[in-house]
Amino acid sequence: MAEQKYDAVVVGGGVAGLTATIYLARAGRKVVMIEKNGECGGLVNTFSHNGYKFDTGVRALLDAGIINTMLKDLKIELEVVRSPVSLGIGNEVLNIEDKSSLDDYRNLLKRFYPESAGEIDEVLRIIRKIMKHMDVLYGIENPVFKNLKRDVGFIFGKILPWFPRFLLTVRKINRMNAPVEEYLKGIVTNPSLRDMIAQHFFKNTPSFFALSYFSLYLDYFYPIGGVGRLAEALQEKLLKLGGEIRTETTVARIFPDEHIVKDDRGISYEYKNLIWAADLKTLYKISETGKLPPEVRKRIEDTKDKFLANRGGDSVFTLFLEVDEPLESFAKIAHGHFFYTPSTKGLGETHKKELDDLLNNFTKAGKEAVLSWLDRFTALNTYEISIPGLKDPAMVPPEKTGVIISLLAEYDLFRKVEEAGWLEEFIGEFEDRILKVISGSIYPMLKDKVIHHFSFTPVSIEKRINSSEGGITGWAFTKSMPVINKIQIADRSVMTPIPSVYQAGQWVYSPGGVPMSILTGKLAADRVLKGAKAGLK
Ligand SMILES: Cc1cc2nc3c(=O)[nH]c(=O)nc-3n(C[C@H](O)[C@H](O)[C@H](O)COP(=O)(O)OP(=O)(O)OC[C@H]3O[C@@H](n4cnc5c(N)ncnc54)[C@H](O)[C@@H]3O)c2cc1C
Repeated sequence: MAEQKYDAVVVGGGVAGLTATIYLARAGRKVVMIEKNGECGGLVNTFSHNGYKFDTGVRALLDAGIINTMLKDLKIELEVVRSPVSLGIGNEVLNIEDKSSLDDYRNLLKRFYPESAGEIDEVLRIIRKIMKHMDVLYGIENPVFKNLKRDVGFIFGKILPWFPRFLLTVRKINRMNAPVEEYLKGIVTNPSLRDMIAQHFFKNTPSFFALSYFSLYLDYFYPIGGVGRLAEALQEKLLKLGGEIRTETTVARIFPDEHIVKDDRGISYEYKNLIWAADLKTLYKISETGKLPPEVRKRIEDTKDKFLANRGGDSVFTLFLEVDEPLESFAKIAHGHFFYTPSTKGLGETHKKELDDLLNNFTKAGKEAVLSWLDRFTALNTYEISIPGLKDPAMVPPEKTGVIISLLAEYDLFRKVEEAGWLEEFIGEFEDRILKVISGSIYPMLKDKVIHHFSFTPVSIEKRINSSEGGITGWAFTKSMPVINKIQIADRSVMTPIPSVYQAGQWVYSPGGVPMSILTGKLAADRVLKGAKAGLK
């Protein structure tokens, strides 16, 4: 017998779960959102430490025609500022201000790689073309968040003129799905130059998605108080609309035949519909399907096998620094969101074949080989550096600066080091190297002004969020992506073969990220509200 009965149970309190719950509550459904951690937001989170506020996950937000449309629809006012981006190589820094900065980017690359001038022009021509595609794709408030029955003007004035261009654009971008590394090989002969353009993307990122980033750099915005303010604002709205939240509660078992979930304390919740807005491998691992009809069970088993055969995408290592130096010193160097590559050499095979070899011979290779690899990995990489105080000065104590430095990192390496019993030591070695590289290049004041530092690893992300392989935007990019990856059929991404269960969030559509997590949260809520039959594809 269930102790609590709901129209809908939503599992996971990241932005996907928050969105789904809000829309169900707004429609008058009795809904509860169950979240494992003490606070909501998942990978959209800001925390305080020693008077400094740091963003744990995403560093700034991209609208994509989704976030602001949703906020407007929900009448949520979020105070935001622009979050300008800088790009840097060696000791050159380019502040991106508008579309004309693309010319400065071209010139920057040409100064470092003069022999590749023609190839650089070609890459920039493609980036410009993609920027135009992005203007079409994101150039309209997403109709999923509009009340089309009431807003006929929007249909005739916006959607109808836009739709044919949208379809044409989708056709064009679907032709650019090859991994960016491979795609660039056809244009750029110098491997170091290829690395400068693409090494800060996830491995095998579809080329369209990777090369669209220049256009996205212009669109980043930052909520006053940190990115976590978005999750907090959604949470406040959810409660105001009568939705319920259970934090520090993990869903441990699902019984689809009885329409019941059980949490880690053994409490049962009965649902008419369930929206799973968390890691998808877990959904299938904890679902008790034994009493479902054999044909349904078969579909569930097939889907489960498909998910278990895939992995989460690259994870991230993040170093948080509390620095005894005023914001002004950092403002002179770069904007508060900075992609910085200290060396022009590029990672080459360091994060690919060299790492694979290391992982395959981990025990034999030993600690020294791992640390020597780490020397190269940290020296040749591209860093994402965020300084929240440069966007909102209230994020730091007076005369101090909080700095977040991150780089993509392989979960398996951290897991193996942990199994070998020296994870803490490895983390220390990682932190020391990052500090040495960054203070030896772009921010010399980090040499002796760091008061306190700590870091998050792929393993700690996995533990906190329950995210397979510490994945931060969903699945690794592989040839056989286990979920929908075409925008024109994104509405199907929320379906599961489990009766009355829908899915939302970064694991259900690729490429994932904040806007698509929010969009799928809304799509899942819409399916529930329409009473769509579970299992329909
Ligand atoms: C460093 C970093 C940089 C990023 N940069 C960008 C970027 O530039 N652009 C972009 O779009 N995206 C970016 N992202 C990714 C983006 O933040 C995520 O894709 C998005 O926030 C995912 O939201 P979600 O709601 O789908 O999942 P999550 O945020 O993972 O939320 C899932 C929630 O479910 C909870 N949970 C898990 N299992 C259970 C269970 N059994 N019971 C109860 N609760 C459970 C978790 O605790 C978590 O709160 C970045 C992420 C990181 C970490």
